[in-house]
Amino acid sequence: MPLPKTGTPADEILSRLAALQANDVDWKLGRAFTLAYYAGADVLEVATAANAMYHSTNALNVEAFPSLRTMQSDVVAMVAELLHGDGDAAGFMTTGGTESILLAVKAARGRGRARGITAPEMILPTSAHAAFEKAAAYFDVASIRVPVRDDFRADPQAMAARLTPDTVLVVGSAPSYPQGVVDPIAAIAAIAERAGINCHVDACMGGITLPMLERLGYAIPPFDFRVRGVTSISVDLHKYGYTAKGASVILHRNKELRRHQTFVTDNWLGGLYASSGILGTKSGGPIAAAWAVMQYLGEPGYLRLTKAARQATEALLAGLRSIPGVRVLGEPDATLAAFTFDDVDAFAIGKALRTRGWVVDQQQPPPSLHCTVNAVHAALIDDFLAALRAALDEVRGTRARAAQAAYGSLE
Ligand SMILES: *Cc1c(COP(=O)(O)O)cnc(C)c1O
Repeated sequence: MPLPKTGTPADEILSRLAALQANDVDWKLGRAFTLAYYAGADVLEVATAANAMYHSTNALNVEAFPSLRTMQSDVVAMVAELLHGDGDAAGFMTTGGTESILLAVKAARGRGRARGITAPEMILPTSAHAAFEKAAAYFDVASIRVPVRDDFRADPQAMAARLTPDTVLVVGSAPSYPQGVVDPIAAIAAIAERAGINCHVDACMGGITLPMLERLGYAIPPFDFRVRGVTSISVDLHKYGYTAKGASVILHRNKELRRHQTFVTDNWLGGLYASSGILGTKSGGPIAAAWAVMQYLGEPGYLRLTKAARQATEALLAGLRSIPGVRVLGEPDATLAAFTFDDVDAFAIGKALRTRGWVVDQQQPPPSLHCTVNAVHAALIDDFLAALRAALDEVRGTRARAAQAAYGSLE
């Protein structure tokens, strides 16, 4: 399509955009158990207003926008505090979990290089996020995948057995994306501490939820900087921080470890160029939105939202376990749950749910469905379970099968 020969009035453009949205999932009504998070109209309004105030500012160089420096350092400090970083903990805001993970792998590779390692390897439980494979491909770090145990948690003994002089990083998740279980972080971090290498905890999902669950009285195994040997942690704010998309934090235990993550060059005609992350030009919008939403909600807000999301998860788990032929995978520790079926094709159920207006993730192995439960779902679990029962009846009747829908897409 060519660029239009004439412009179009703004109001017409906006109504076209609204029309384009007609077939998108209604995430504000809680119809998506993936991709989007909703804490209510008031929170969205704060995020949207802050994002709009800053969307054309540029965090590439905060000399021109000292307000972005202030907000970024406030956000990083609040997350460091939640994760029990001491005064030395240091990090940056990034644009998402993938960027935070890429940077954690780069930092581990850099520390390994400083010791003369030229063919670096990292040891990952099979449950660790696909973003680590992206990092492996981008940064040429070999991905050594180690099967998780029957409970879907990482197997530290089997991971330790794969350690070589070229290992630069071991990884645990808190919780894992696929089954929502927290890995035995202390045992994984001990491997790293003994070897003098990095241990990254992927708390993209749990970095806010788990500290809040702990405050609410849940028994959460230690997963943060209280655990010796943990060198970096990723936390997504655009998930359970309920802020605008494009906001995550990468934290290092100290500045010395962070040194391997940053990038500086003067090898061009444009002078000194220093960069904290992957991007160059970067919108200040998500930084302002994260700062604003965290100030707006405060600890009471996150406690309320976490409680709602966890109670919804517990209601979902109880409902799933009461349906014959449905099996929950593992014992979800936070707000994610995966389930499969004894007698029908999981992806056919996923498709039948989609035709009923519900979007859940489809994953394998094993073929299963996946729900990321957030506060918006609190009042909707019974509706969802009814849709699931109807989908089961339909698929049992037709014995339908379906292809897997992908987590991410290339379009
Ligand atoms: C979402 C997620 C990621 C990737 O984050 P993006 O924000 O999608 O780039 C990595 N790890 C876990 C555990 C996640 O849930």
